[in-house]
Order: sequence, then C-alpha cells, then structure tokens
Amino acid sequence: MLTLLPQLGIGVVDLAAAFLFLYGLHRMSSPVTAPSGIFVAGIGMAVAVLASFLYAFDVGAAARPNLPANLGLAVVALALGGGLAWWGGRKVAMTAMPQMVAIYNGMGGGAAGAIAAVELFGNKAQGAPALIMTLLGALIGAVSLSGSLIAWAKLDGVINKPVRVKGQQVFNGLVLLATFVVGGYIVVASADNSALILTMPTWIYLFFGCALALGVLMTLPIGGADMPVVISIFNAFTGLAVGIEGYVLQNPALMIAGMVVGAAGMLLTLLMAKAMNRSVSNVIFTNFGEVATRKQGKIKGSLKPTQPGDAGIAMRYAASVIIVPGYGLAVSQGQGKLYEFVKLLQAGGVSVKFAVHPVAGRMPGQMDVLLAEAGVPYDVIFQLEDINDQFATTDVALVIGANDVVNPAARTDKSSAIYGMPILNADHAKQVFVIKRGEGKGYAGIVNELFYADNCNMVYGDAQTVLIKMSEAVRGLGLPAVA
Ligand code: NDP
Repeated sequence: MLTLLPQLGIGVVDLAAAFLFLYGLHRMSSPVTAPSGIFVAGIGMAVAVLASFLYAFDVGAAARPNLPANLGLAVVALALGGGLAWWGGRKVAMTAMPQMVAIYNGMGGGAAGAIAAVELFGNKAQGAPALIMTLLGALIGAVSLSGSLIAWAKLDGVINKPVRVKGQQVFNGLVLLATFVVGGYIVVASADNSALILTMPTWIYLFFGCALALGVLMTLPIGGADMPVVISIFNAFTGLAVGIEGYVLQNPALMIAGMVVGAAGMLLTLLMAKAMNRSVSNVIFTNFGEVATRKQGKIKGSLKPTQPGDAGIAMRYAASVIIVPGYGLAVSQGQGKLYEFVKLLQAGGVSVKFAVHPVAGRMPGQMDVLLAEAGVPYDVIFQLEDINDQFATTDVALVIGANDVVNPAARTDKSSAIYGMPILNADHAKQVFVIKRGEGKGYAGIVNELFYADNCNMVYGDAQTVLIKMSEAVRGLGLPAVA
C-alpha cells in the first residue's frame, strides 16, 4: 500500500495538469477570459513538468528503476528553453507571431521525434505494438518538425516562392511509401528478438531521414498565403505525435496534453479552411496564388484619393462608422492611434463598431489581439456573421490595411482565388474610406474592385500616420464633446 502512494501522488499531479490544460483551453474561448486561460494552461504545463521530474526521480515507479543520468542536462535544457521562450515571447512583433508559432510548433514535433529516437536507439519500446506506436509518433513528429521549419522560412520570406516540380505528388507518395517500408522492416526484423533493433541504427536513421524529407517535400509546394493553415495542420500533427509518445512512455500528462493540442489544431484547421471557403486538401494540394495570377477582367471605375483630414472630418459628422481592420494595421502598429481616433468620434456622438473577419491579418485572432492591446472594449468588436447586415445601414466603412477580406470579387468572380470566401460587406456602406500605402495587393494577389467603386475613396499612407492626421483634423474642428 505504502509503495503505491507515491505512484498515486504522481497520478494526482498528472490529473491536476490535465485539468489545468482543459480549464485553460476553455477560458481561451473568449477574448475577455483568454489571458487568464493562457496563464492557467501555463501553470498546467509547469505542473506537468513537475510530474515528469517525479517520474525521473523514480518516485514509486517500479518500472523505471534507474535515475536518468542526464537529469542535470534536462535542467539546463529547461532553463535554456524557458529563458529563450520568455525573451522571444516578449520581443516578438505582432506581425512576426505566425513565424514564432511555426518555430514553437516545430519544436514540439521535434521533441516527440526525439523521445521516439531515445526509445528506438535504446531499445526501450518492447514488442511490436509499442514499436509501431513509437515509429508512428516519430514519423508524425519528424514531419511536423521539418514541415514547420519550411513554413517558418516561407512566412519569414527566407523562401519566397512555392517550389514545385512536375510529378511532385507522386514523388512525395513514394517517399511516404519508403518511410512505411523502412518502419515495417524495423518492426518485422525485431519482432522475434527485440535486442536486434540495436543492430539496425542505419535503418532507424533512414526512417527519420525519410520522415524529415517528407515534411520538407510536403510543405515546399504550398504557397505562402496558406502557411497559417499549414501550421495549424502541423500543430495538430505535433499534438498527435506527443500524445502517441505519451502513450509509449505511459505518461498521462503527455497523452492528455498531446490529444488536446491535436484536437484543437485540427478544429482550428477546419475553421480556417471554412473561413476561406476552401477544403484542407485544396490548401495542401493546390496553389492559392496560381489562380490569382490569371488575368482579371477590366475593373470599372477609378481610384479616388482623398486627404486624411477630409476623411477624418467626414467621419466626425457621420452618425455611424464601422471599422474593418486588416493586416496593414498590424504592419503599421497603428492600433493605439486608431483607438485615439475612435474615442474622438465617440466623444462626438458617432456610433463606432469594429468588424473582424476570421482570416484578417496573418493568423487567427490577430485583429482581436491588436484591438485588445489598444484597449478597445470587447462590446464594440463584432465578428463577421454578427455585423455583416449592418453595413447597409451604416454611413461610413473605414477599411484600414485590409484588402482581401473586403474584396467583392469573392462574391461574384468565379475565377478569383478567393471566390466563395465570406467577406465583410464594407462596399454596402454609404461611404467607404480605405487606408493603405499605395496600390499594393492583398495576400491573395488580386486587385480589389471595391477600391474603384463610386462610394469609395482611398486615403494613401501608412495606417498609423494617416490615423494621427485624421485625429489632428478632428481635434482641429474644436467641436464640443457630446454628453
Ligand atoms: P491583405 O493581405 O489582403 O491586405 C493587406 C493590405 O494592407 C495590403 O493591400 C497593403 O496594401 C496594406 N498595407 C500593408 N502595410 C500597410 C501599412 N503599413 N499601412 C497601411 N496599409 C498597409 O489583408 P487582409 O487582412 O484583408 O486579409 C488577410 C489575407 O491573409 C486573406 O487573403 C487571408 O485569406 C490570408 N490568410 C490569413 C490567415 C489568418 O489566419 N488570418 C491565414 C491564411 C491566410 P499597400 O501595400 O498598398 O499598403
């Protein structure tokens, strides 16, 4: 009974970690509770690390009698990794967040692959079922590691073109087949005598080589615009790999954390694909940009520039304004100046709302985070389905650094890369002002016919600079605030 107590203790710590993960995830479902959700999940992670140390210190684990010799190294790795993550998390710019997520995701896949490598090279996975699970985790983890690194390189502009060759899908299929054959050989060859695996390190290296190559080959042909979706897929892969390796190690915290990440990643992937009106297989096997480079029909109308001051004053005299933030707002880091401008309008009695598209920016939730950072209250921020009908009865739609998410071609042009994607109905407002630097296209690489519409004026310049000028013009009116 007494010997069981420590094991029970570890079980309770694992359970506590699992509860904290799930409760943290639950709190992340609303922007109001999300910060505390992240904190709670972080504590869960610390508790899970504690549980792993209890295992390592052999607390009641009869099956793991030896204290790992590399405990010191583990502590150093934790301190280094934790320190780097703390520093990186504080320093990273909002626009570089997707790259950071890609790197961290790759690390997770790599960690799962590394656990598998230790099990395989050390002949710890005994018997065919354990071996198959270990190899499966190794495959998914390695694909996630190398694929995430390519995704990072694409998002960061290190690789700036999709790399495609004829017959690529067939070749990728052959590499996958080779990985299965090598993995199958390892299982079959060591089925009767598990010690035999120690004599086949070359095969294990070959297995990892094939899996890593597969991640690279799968990701290289996919266009940069689809990278956030791809990262989300790899996120699901990483979770799955970690969950499988948790099973191999019989570590419940790892199993639960892995499965939670895997399920959340898969759900996010499906939601993102839905918001872009594309299937996941379309993202993986089709090039988004290719459709965009097709000739667009001639767009009627002309671009009509206006001064920031004139646009600002027009909004001060409007009764209602809906603001559509997009990627350019994140680039300019103009969220603080935007909220200053909004407060000026509100002080003048103008009704101001924000319309957030699910794929505005370069990662899910990026606009919500930007607006929260500036202190914009949640009750004036609306998601697409809750606000889209209101544009038609609104005086002004102010589009800031957004492009694809307000492109009416998504409704009408079947040849467009974004055809079918639900868009914000900014064009339905009585007057539209668009803040952008010039004639740069959005991520989909297509011209936006909204900018040429009769009811649309362009306010050229960096979003932050334009917003400062707008506020100056409104203040210059010297109008009294409305109570
Ligand atoms: P877009 O990428 O369509 O457009 C951004 C616009 O911002 C550009 O046209 C650019 O024009 C302008 N801009 C850039 N920098 C500045 C600046 N400093 N000041 C003012 N304007 C600036 O952004 P959206 O948010 O509308 O759409 C997001 C796109 O990303 C969609 O196509 C979506 O499918 C895709 N995507 C998003 C994902 C997500 O999770 N959020 C995931 C995958 C893809 P100019 O150069 O003239 O200034």
